[in-house]
Amino acid sequence: NLDVRFQLGEGGILRQSQGTIHALSDIHFALEQGQTIGLIGESGSGKSTLGRAILHLVRPSAGEVFLNGMNLTKLSEQKMRPYRQQMQMVFQDPFDSMNARMTVGQIIMEPLLLQRLGNSSTRRHKAEALLERMGLDRRAMNRYPGQYSGGQRQRIAIARALSTEPQLLVLDEPTSGLDVSMQARILNLLQDLQKEMGLSYVFISHDLGAVSYLAQTIIVLYLGRIVEVAPTATLIATPAHPYTASLMDALPPMVRQNTATHLPMPVGEPPSPVNPPSGCAFHTRCPKAEARCSSERPPLQDLSPGHQVACHFPLQVGN
Ligand code: SF4
Ligand code: MG
Repeated sequence: NLDVRFQLGEGGILRQSQGTIHALSDIHFALEQGQTIGLIGESGSGKSTLGRAILHLVRPSAGEVFLNGMNLTKLSEQKMRPYRQQMQMVFQDPFDSMNARMTVGQIIMEPLLLQRLGNSSTRRHKAEALLERMGLDRRAMNRYPGQYSGGQRQRIAIARALSTEPQLLVLDEPTSGLDVSMQARILNLLQDLQKEMGLSYVFISHDLGAVSYLAQTIIVLYLGRIVEVAPTATLIATPAHPYTASLMDALPPMVRQNTATHLPMPVGEPPSPVNPPSGCAFHTRCPKAEARCSSERPPLQDLSPGHQVACHFPLQVGN
């Protein structure tokens, strides 16, 4: 039941409109070891905030996050340290999160230094081994990230994230901005690493095609709430929420042929999370909306095992 709120007016943003942004509400899910959960939604849906809240880079306003049964939300920052080692994040544009004046070796070894793990020789060996596993030459150790392409930098970022031997990776748009063949290589690499190391992934993307390749379960977010969750094949074959059905429109034809239902992409931008629409937040863009939708918020309800939807009029197969 995770909630994240941001106070407006702090940090110079949106000073006139004092108030609260309810970035995430009532988020609940479980991730098994070695599995991938996909988080999908447009920008502003709260998916990156959720990734950061899981890692406690953003403190939840309410609700709790557990790792192997340990309630992280109750831990002090100091007691949290050994758990931080277990959870790492890979960002969309790794170049933005890399110090261009550090060598690739320094970048990969940095989490080990911050966590005070190993000595300088074991750290170096580990970084070299990770580089080789990522298909990069160990001579990269002494080069700079600016000397590498986007796909290579993403592999350097994955090596950095793996240096502390984490159990959980939060991958925030790890293939966005890469060309299609490089996207496929990174997805295959992530899949192989998951099998080898028993990693668990939270895979954040606006690209349902990429998410469906890795995730066993997909969560669809709209304005900070879960609107649908289902096993991947079920979600693609029989999306029940009109918003999910509209996301099918953007799937590559090979994947889309498996879906029974798709609606046109919703028009316009999603509404502002400062003043979300009443009732069902999707009602301002929903082709299926009826009067009730603007006044009554639909609860998340079971459709079938593992398949839940928050809609008063969920789609049936074939319509
Ligand atoms: Fe559309 Fe109404 Fe369902 Fe919301 S509750 S998704 S507005 S049909
Ligand atoms: Mg984002």
